Amino acid sequence: MSRPMPRPGVLDIAPYVPGKSEAPGVAKVYKLSANETPLGPSPKAIAAYRDCAAHLEDYPEGSSRVLREAIGKGFGLDPDRIICGAGSDELLNLLAHTYLGPGDEAIMTDHCFLVYPIATMANGGKSIVVPVKDFVTDVDAILAAVTPRTKIVWVANPNNPTGTYVPFDELKRLQRNLPPHVLLVIDAAYSEYVSRNDYEAGIELVATTENTVMCRTFSKIHGLASLRVGWMYGPGHLIDAVNRIRGPFNVSTPAMQAAIASLADTDYIARARAHNDQWLNWLTEEISKLGLKVTPSVANFVLIHFPQEKGRTADDADAFLTKRGLILRALKNYKLPHALRLTVGTEEANRLVVAALREFVGA
Ligand SMILES: *Cc1c(COP(=O)(O)O)cnc(C)c1O
Repeated sequence: MSRPMPRPGVLDIAPYVPGKSEAPGVAKVYKLSANETPLGPSPKAIAAYRDCAAHLEDYPEGSSRVLREAIGKGFGLDPDRIICGAGSDELLNLLAHTYLGPGDEAIMTDHCFLVYPIATMANGGKSIVVPVKDFVTDVDAILAAVTPRTKIVWVANPNNPTGTYVPFDELKRLQRNLPPHVLLVIDAAYSEYVSRNDYEAGIELVATTENTVMCRTFSKIHGLASLRVGWMYGPGHLIDAVNRIRGPFNVSTPAMQAAIASLADTDYIARARAHNDQWLNWLTEEISKLGLKVTPSVANFVLIHFPQEKGRTADDADAFLTKRGLILRALKNYKLPHALRLTVGTEEANRLVVAALREFVGA
């Protein structure tokens, strides 16, 4: 070879393609393709962010101490068992980097978040993809795929892009039946939206086991996706290992301060959750009434399934909606070519989507 070559696995990765965010020639665009909150962040988070502008010359405090303490207080957790990151994407990649090597296997489900195969393969690992049942993570399928080479199991709970979740009992059964050397990563990016009695984000499992870690984000209900802040809670030995390879200034001061202010604004987050509850139910009902199948979701988005007849497909719907400025997420690279993912929007956007879909199906 006469030029630098990436390590094995890297060129096998299909580059991550974000959803589109534009509709050429349309005056008003409603971006409902990235699971961002339609309400924006707390005004207190914006103010805290602005207040940092006077001292951009200073490096951030390297361990995100003030943010870890605020999270610890908010959730009743030991701050020493928390690591913050530039979005949970960074944390997922750090976990893969810490625990996976060439030839190791990482288990994930069909239609899972695409960061898992990317982080796996970037470290020379092998992605083992197991089937789901009715778009729900199947614990038995995961357990059946475990081999002596398995190092990580990635579970998004709730899962994106399906919106389904694994009940706490099932998650516990998964952990209990994994060999103790296998790390169970629970990605709970949408946990704040879930209102189900049989759901738990992962805190209890992390607190009571040595092979579970939970990742969280400020990108979704907190509305701070642009700032890139996430955190994870894990056993002490994992925190120690990951901190050894974490970049020393991986979370910026404005991001930390905005996240702290948002955590403190519990009324605002409660309102964001109430908005989502109301409109998630409304969208699910109204779209189902049009004769389109909607996978029941507990997150801030719904998966809409389209028929495969010419003129009525997901592609046709996508084009029809885009012309009206309504941007949904096409899911071909998630192996869901006949579905679109719709993020819960403002009341105005939600009503426009349902009206446009009604026109599209000719109901
Ligand atoms: C949005 C999302 C995240 C959050 O990513 P950030 O890097 O924190 O913005 C993590 N996991 C899943 C499944 C997501 O959909």
